[in-house]
Amino acid sequence: MTTDTKATETRAFEADVSRLLHMMVHSVYSDKDVFLRELISNAADACEKLRFEAVNRPELLADDPKPRISISADPDNKQIIVEDNGIGMSRDDMAEALGTIARSGTRAFIERVGTGTEDTQLIGQFGVGFYSAFMVADRVDVISRLAGSEEAWRWSSDGKGSYEIAPAPLEAAPKRGTRVVLHLMDDAVSYTGSYRLEQLAKAQSGHVPVPITLIEKPG
Ligand code: ADP
Ligand code: MG
Repeated sequence: MTTDTKATETRAFEADVSRLLHMMVHSVYSDKDVFLRELISNAADACEKLRFEAVNRPELLADDPKPRISISADPDNKQIIVEDNGIGMSRDDMAEALGTIARSGTRAFIERVGTGTEDTQLIGQFGVGFYSAFMVADRVDVISRLAGSEEAWRWSSDGKGSYEIAPAPLEAAPKRGTRVVLHLMDDAVSYTGSYRLEQLAKAQSGHVPVPITLIEKPG
């Protein structure tokens, strides 16, 4: 086959992912505070997805049926940790959900199950939500165990174009659900102040249907 250079071609755009990430983190959001809202909304979405799945598979709830979200601040280690006992993620979920930029999984989920019902009060609307974490963190670790799974995985990235996924020991992972560990940049360490975090959590989590606990020092 010969190539006719005069023929019309359709080509997909290519993207410099690291530049795109940089732009997103530094331009899409003007207000750094929103990182907490995004993480809380993802945690709440995960609890909501579990509730949805558990209608047909109640065993997924195991001995931990009540949804919860905890936010811990650790100023000494410059960390904020947001943990939920929701649906969790498999290795593939992580690669797909956290490794694809600007594609809202929540939107896809809502489209699949329909909107407006009580079962789908999901908050996430924009596929850039999770990446707002990189406005305040120079590394984000996500340790997750999918409901009903015997494996846990750890996703880690500096938000600059690549990420790694590795198996996580079960004893260092949530029994079910997801722990997001933000390694804060120096200019964001003030978020660990308990008053500041409490005010922010209150301001950013108005309509979240899952109870949120604030822990000052993670145990
Ligand atoms: P959206 O919430 O709009 O889908 P995000 O960027 O906030 O977009 O999150 C991307 C995806 O990552 C989610 O759709 C979900 O699949 C996954 N995810 C993020 N946080 C969690 C979490 N705490 N538990 C389970 N899945 C999560
Ligand atoms: Mg979201």
